[in-house]
Amino acid sequence: MTVHKAMRRAWVGVVAALALASAAAAAAPNDKVGFSIIRTGGRLTSESMLYQGGGKAKVDVVYSAILVRHGGQAFLFDTGLGARIDAQYGRDMPRWKRPFFHYDKPIVPVRDQLARAGLPAVRRIVLSHSHWDHASGVVDFPGAEVWVAPPERALVGKAGHGADNIWPSQVGDPGIAWTSIDFRSGPYRGFERSLDVYADGTVVLVPQYGHTAGSIGMFVTTSSGRRFFFCGDTVWSAAAIDAGRPKFWLARALVDADARATLSQVRRMEALRKHDPGLTIVPAHDGRVQARLGFFPGWVE
Ligand SMILES: [Zn+2]
Repeated sequence: MTVHKAMRRAWVGVVAALALASAAAAAAPNDKVGFSIIRTGGRLTSESMLYQGGGKAKVDVVYSAILVRHGGQAFLFDTGLGARIDAQYGRDMPRWKRPFFHYDKPIVPVRDQLARAGLPAVRRIVLSHSHWDHASGVVDFPGAEVWVAPPERALVGKAGHGADNIWPSQVGDPGIAWTSIDFRSGPYRGFERSLDVYADGTVVLVPQYGHTAGSIGMFVTTSSGRRFFFCGDTVWSAAAIDAGRPKFWLARALVDADARATLSQVRRMEALRKHDPGLTIVPAHDGRVQARLGFFPGWVE
């Protein structure tokens, strides 16, 4: 049986399980929780471009989406580069920024990877933040609800009117079903507020404001008990957390809305890891960390 056939069979099982679960009106305790990292594209750059004090070695900067599965349900955390990235980039990336921000070909959008594996399109997307390299694929999933933190929702409304790196070609469609995240679940692992998405502690969203006004992070505890924290673009490389370093100064100036708040989030992640050495922190663009975990159609459970 090919991998794709196996995936398809697994997914059919998942959909059937969903029907049963909804009948029971509660998730069964043995529901599988896991994720798959869908790499849509990347580019090679030297580590020194990612954080202060990084070396000259070339590293793989990836544009990934995380497909999170909880029993019969699934959502995307970020979308990577979507099917329309070339047109979006041509229209909305300012020319002077193009030497700093680009991507190599080929691009393989999430939508196409899911279809090839026989999986259904997702109905929910959660954005770590709304920058171009995270929101590009939103338009590939018409009708999906798109979750962002309230301050990020306000930023999205300013796309094309002074919001840096947030593009009307990606988020300007009036048909997008934006949903503001309500962090109503109380403090969680040092964060003042959180949203426990499935009310069982397996997937927890937290505000991580700094890189943008409404950036968020996501904790995932898989079925086997492995613990992960997806920190979006708060750092571009997990090595920056070990070193306690901010981004390369020019990058910081170009992308971090609030450099001080971003650095305090880096310190917070240092503390998180000190308290829980088994926690794996996964930055959105860190190809080294992600390759170690493996890419779609592989799963981490
Ligand atoms: Zn990014």
